[in-house]
Amino acid sequence: MMTIAERIAQIRQDLPNAIKLIAVSKQVSVESMRAAYAVGIRDFGESRVQEAQAKQAQLADLTDINWHFIGRLQSNKAKKAIELFQWIHSVDSLKLAQQLDRLAVESNRPPQICLQVKIESDPQKTGWTIPQLWADLPQLNECNNLQICGLMTIPPVGLDEGEIKNVFDRTHRLLQEIHSQKWSNLQQMQQLSMGMSNDYKIAIASGSTMVRLGRILFGERSAI
Ligand SMILES: *Cc1c(COP(=O)(O)O)cnc(C)c1O
Repeated sequence: MMTIAERIAQIRQDLPNAIKLIAVSKQVSVESMRAAYAVGIRDFGESRVQEAQAKQAQLADLTDINWHFIGRLQSNKAKKAIELFQWIHSVDSLKLAQQLDRLAVESNRPPQICLQVKIESDPQKTGWTIPQLWADLPQLNECNNLQICGLMTIPPVGLDEGEIKNVFDRTHRLLQEIHSQKWSNLQQMQQLSMGMSNDYKIAIASGSTMVRLGRILFGERSAI
């Protein structure tokens, strides 16, 4: 069996330097996270606020970690999420964005967020459809306390490679189209958070800037 360090070294060979590798550590032990940290990982992705809070307490000596929230964010956890995470990839509605925007006023650390989009219909996923996003962009542009940094997407399960590529390419094109509108607060949207263990190579070919990798680094998840 390969060690975590060996797996990370292997993945890095596939990743252009400009692409941020986020190690998705949900259901992964803090010991494994330390092993990843030891070989240079500084970005960790978590999908549950409480789990992340417990881990942050146990990893408090590692002061330069960037914490990324990638799960579904309930409104009653929004305040905590702003406190605990530098990034929130999974902002999936105007209502949530506006709530975060209000909460961020009091925070001395404006959260960096991605807007989660649903390019193909997918009953298992939240996020904006393309028409919904266009309808909400003018109001998102008013959320001045947020750093709206880009788009995040997860292809529906069961697509073939060509269909996955199509989802990523359309997300990339959507980002470019938003840019061409010259909205003041949306000009900083440059990130494409796309690519997981099964599809990150396709995502990179489609312009991903941040890949979120779990199982390929840490092995299959088990409850901890
Ligand atoms: C779990 C998860 C990942 C990582 O998935 P792997 O298949 O383990 O690489 C990435 N993004 C999100 C949003 C996730 O929930």
